[in-house]
Amino acid sequence: MNPFENALEQLDRAAKIGNIDPEVLLRMRHAEREVHVSIPVTMDDGSLRIFEGYRVQHSSARGPYKGGIRFHGDTNIDEVRALALWMTMKCAVADIPMGGGKGGITVNPKELSKAEIERLSRGWVRGLYPVLGPQIDVPAPDMNTNPEIIGWMADEYAKLTSDTTGAAFTGKPVGKGGSEGRSIATGMGGFYTFDALREHLHVPTPATVAIQGMGNVGGNAAKIFEEHERRIVAISDSRGGVYEKNGLNVADVLAYKEKNGALKNFPGAEEISNEKLLELPVDCLIPAALENQITKENAHRIQARVIVELANGPTTTDADDILFSRGIMVVPDILANSGGVIVSTFEWEQNQKGEHWSERDVLEKMKTILETQARLIAKRASELQTDMRRAAFVVALERIATALN
Ligand code: NAD
Repeated sequence: MNPFENALEQLDRAAKIGNIDPEVLLRMRHAEREVHVSIPVTMDDGSLRIFEGYRVQHSSARGPYKGGIRFHGDTNIDEVRALALWMTMKCAVADIPMGGGKGGITVNPKELSKAEIERLSRGWVRGLYPVLGPQIDVPAPDMNTNPEIIGWMADEYAKLTSDTTGAAFTGKPVGKGGSEGRSIATGMGGFYTFDALREHLHVPTPATVAIQGMGNVGGNAAKIFEEHERRIVAISDSRGGVYEKNGLNVADVLAYKEKNGALKNFPGAEEISNEKLLELPVDCLIPAALENQITKENAHRIQARVIVELANGPTTTDADDILFSRGIMVVPDILANSGGVIVSTFEWEQNQKGEHWSERDVLEKMKTILETQARLIAKRASELQTDMRRAAFVVALERIATALN
């Protein structure tokens, strides 16, 4: 499934039940600007390679474009378009003063040295800096990009422009203008959202959890959900996962992966494929890796009570219908994983004001936003007798319409 087609279908489905102005819908189907750059990189052996880079600036109706940069071998313009559209919706759902954008480079970073990744990251900024900036477009990390990479990008941007605030990029290292709490924000926000909706979702306390993906989002979510006495029975990386029905020790699993680079032969747990992990009988399933993981092929085999989407676009619309008819609630990505962009916005605000907030303040402010919006969207879903994804899109589109009028 092309993720952009999935995103457009999500828009249409919400518009049908939400009485959305057709002109607003038409605007949302098209990004305001798409920039495609060729990035020349001198490799360590002296040869030259050209990489394809992108920035899709979907909507600035509610504020500067905001969204991460993904490094992945399969990244292409349609994936970035979908991710940018979801960012517009996500920022509107969180009711933060940001629009939506997304960036990427088609590259498998595992094949590059650290020095090559740094040159590539700086090259992306050299290609795109005229269309970036604190009041224009503010990128952040996504898959395979991290604070170190964002730090290089912010540094390159500062060299190329007169901006000294650091507010053109978020997700920077804490010592270099980054916000406290940003690295755990998406996982933490996922937990706050889940916890605020416990009653609505009818999940027991403590709940059992399976997580697909163990990068920034999945790894932090695993630690946070475990801390709150919820059993993590399975977790995976791109090559597969581990399963223990009585609960894994998350710190041990993460340390094993760090040391060995993979989960193979992790002691005291069964190996499990990514496909089987999604079908485990758990209270809460957390996809935290890629798009298109729950589709019409496997939706009827999902046994989780609820799905909390920390990845972007893990569920197709066909699968949404199957899950809804089976009474499996989906907490949609544009709500569940918005903790990252909320704290990114706090970082942007702190940089511009020259402030540095404590982790406690940051998390408390994020929690208040997520609890308020999660409850509002659950209520709207009940009123509209629909799933939370459509309700979240309706709320977002209404807010965007107000900004456009
Ligand atoms: P990451 O690069 O830190 O981690 C990605 C994880 O996914 C890794 O554990 C990797 O092994 C795993 N993975 C890759 N391919 C896989 C496959 N085919 N099957 C199973 N696992 C696979 O990336 P991240 O920042 O944790 O992002 C993960 C997801 O969360 C993405 O969809 C991203 O768009 C979304 N997201 C990230 C943030 C953020 O703040 N970083 C915010 C909101 C949403």
